[in-house]
Amino acid sequence: MSTTGKINVQTENIFPIIKKFLYSDNEIFLRELVSNAVDATQKLKALARMGEAKGDLGDTKVEVEVDKSSKTIVIKDKGLGMTKEEIEKYITQIAFSGAEEFVNKYKDKVDKNVVIGHFGLGFYSAFMVAKKVEIFSLSYKEGAKAVHWECDGSPDYQIEEIGNRTERGTNIVLHIADDCEEYLENGKIEGLLKKYCKFLPVEIKFGTKKTWVPSDESLDSAKDDDKGEEKEKEVEVDNIINNPNPAWTRKPADLTDEDYKSFYKELYPMQFEDPLFNIHLNVDYPFNLTGILYFPKLSNKLEMPKDRIQLYSNQVFVTDNVENIVPDFLTLLRGVIDSPDIPLNVSRSYLQADGNVKKISAHITKKVADKLEELFKKDRAEFEKKWDDIKIFVQYGMISDEKFYEKAAKFALVKTTGGKYFTFDEFENHVKPTQTDKDKKLVYLYATSVQEQHAYIDAAVNRGYEVLLMDTMLDPHFINHLEGKLKDVSFVRVDADTIDKLIKKDDNTVSKLNEEQQNKLRPVIEGAVSKEQFMVQFENLSEKDAPMLVTRPEFMRRMKDMNQLGGGAMGFYGTMPDMYNLVVNTNHPLISRILEEGNEEKQKSLTKQATDLALLSQGLLKGENLTNFIKRSVELI
Ligand code: ADP
Ligand code: MG
Repeated sequence: MSTTGKINVQTENIFPIIKKFLYSDNEIFLRELVSNAVDATQKLKALARMGEAKGDLGDTKVEVEVDKSSKTIVIKDKGLGMTKEEIEKYITQIAFSGAEEFVNKYKDKVDKNVVIGHFGLGFYSAFMVAKKVEIFSLSYKEGAKAVHWECDGSPDYQIEEIGNRTERGTNIVLHIADDCEEYLENGKIEGLLKKYCKFLPVEIKFGTKKTWVPSDESLDSAKDDDKGEEKEKEVEVDNIINNPNPAWTRKPADLTDEDYKSFYKELYPMQFEDPLFNIHLNVDYPFNLTGILYFPKLSNKLEMPKDRIQLYSNQVFVTDNVENIVPDFLTLLRGVIDSPDIPLNVSRSYLQADGNVKKISAHITKKVADKLEELFKKDRAEFEKKWDDIKIFVQYGMISDEKFYEKAAKFALVKTTGGKYFTFDEFENHVKPTQTDKDKKLVYLYATSVQEQHAYIDAAVNRGYEVLLMDTMLDPHFINHLEGKLKDVSFVRVDADTIDKLIKKDDNTVSKLNEEQQNKLRPVIEGAVSKEQFMVQFENLSEKDAPMLVTRPEFMRRMKDMNQLGGGAMGFYGTMPDMYNLVVNTNHPLISRILEEGNEEKQKSLTKQATDLALLSQGLLKGENLTNFIKRSVELI
């Protein structure tokens, strides 16, 4: 006996709306139907454990089949099934009212990131791709009759009991709409299954595949004698899409390093480099969250990671866009987070304000900091080895997250140009006796490139100072941040001034040149360089220092750096010329010689040679000037 019914809704025809406004995301129909099939199977297994479902459950694989000729996709499960009453209740009443509520609430706020599965809209997502949907089902309940339901996308449906189904469970048959025939391609469906269903907890079969196994003969002959040739035969086996027991659902105690590494490969098959280390997350109060985060080797550049953290809800893939769910700096990591407590049914802009999301975020941040601290304490040498690869991550976290800063300040390292590592406290104690200036300020010298600032680093190291290597893109920001945090510490780049001015002590060396001599020399030197670019300054350095030096005031350089980082947004500084100081060491014998040189031509060329050398050591001598310098040098030799 067949009954027809009308789905009880006010919105006259809901399917066109569902179809239209979720269109950009219509592929998720498969995730919804397969996860319903998995739920039904899990429920049956639970019932069996409680003794409610009797007998052997048999094969409980979920199967997906595509039939191009009849233009159908079938999702089959051997789960608990539904009776006629249950279909009327769960499919046509509850699920449908959920769908209606959803559409009413969100039809004005079209948002691609809305996840409809958690709105009881899961089943009806089928109508995004199907013009007609059929359900064939047989409940596990004793004496249950099989049932057939059919709906063509209007609120009218038909339901009838049928006699010819003997298999427990449910088949969902989708008659694919004409504009969705791409879903009738096996490759398309397999791709979607691998994307959304890769770690569902029940085996999912999609067709069969051929594989080679040792043949029986070769097994036998191997027993008899070792000479037996390896014989293999090709067999057809089920093509299982998923790994039902992914590492994050297992106990950390049951997993080896190798297990974590191979799971990493499973997540990112195109990734050939092993991760540095991992964190296994496992929380059940006050929210549910499991997962594994991996630290990859990071380059010095902050770039959008290609292999991103994947978000799951009860092993169903939701998204790999975790923006707003975890703090930005954590998106540099890889791995999975699985939480049924992240409200996936609301658009992302609401997520940030959500209390649960905030707690989850804070928790993950804390776990990550704890793990780093543990590694630091357990094996300092190993931690130092990994530091360069994780530095940008830690710095990013320290800049952007106050809580993380507090924890990380204990284990974050700075590295000197000599390759030594210090914690912040260690470094402070180490340089306090030497690098405190006459105003009791602690001066931290840094270099951004050992190659380019070599002469300046050398001068500093000769004074017994340490120079920090700050060579990442984030370092300028990090320096700013640290200056705000560390008391009475200022950072200056080694080439910002002459070393004795960078760290001023009181012992002023006396000048060999008096004021009159300096005034005589000034125009000679100014004549050798561009006036717009260089300010000539006389300083009483030691005889051992270079005769002339080019320095760049810290403030000017930072302005330039910030401007570059900001992509030229601060237009004003973009047009700021590069200004340098040309420091003349009044105590160097060469300077006295220039002053005393009577022949004007000779004096000019001597001066030019000396200024060019200074420019050269800063990498500022280029083009024609460089060519002339080389010619002149050859003549001098
Ligand atoms: P949800 O899965 O969030 O409950 P759905 O719209 O996906 O919402 O499904 C509605 C209900 O229909 C389910 O809760 C379940 O009771 C029933 N259902 C759907 N698919 C199946 C299935 N394959 N086997 C048994 N029951 C099902
Ligand atoms: Mg569902």
